[in-house]
Amino acid sequence: MADDDAPSDYKRASERRRAEQRRLAQEWLNEKWVGSTACPICTQDEWTVTPLIRADELAASPNTIVVGGPVYATFHVICTNCGYVHVLNAGFAGIPVDPYDQESGPR
Ligand SMILES: [Zn+2]
Repeated sequence: MADDDAPSDYKRASERRRAEQRRLAQEWLNEKWVGSTACPICTQDEWTVTPLIRADELAASPNTIVVGGPVYATFHVICTNCGYVHVLNAGFAGIPVDPYDQESGPR
């Protein structure tokens, strides 16, 4: 009988993919963010990078209407002091998106 607490191969693979997406996003950001890294709200400069967030997963949320159009994956850069959020398109950063990975949404 399988151990229900053990992470499945799918979950482990998904976690690896998410970690790689964050690594690629951080690497891209380190190259591209040449201006001030001070938060425009609180002036601190401590940020965290999220895994990719796909618009179609957000659209699956209750009380959301989808009218069609392209689907974008983004990642967020969040000020760890005040919560200010930068939203960046993952395609510009060259981060691959697995269209079947349901684990890449917000947590
Ligand atoms: Zn801030």
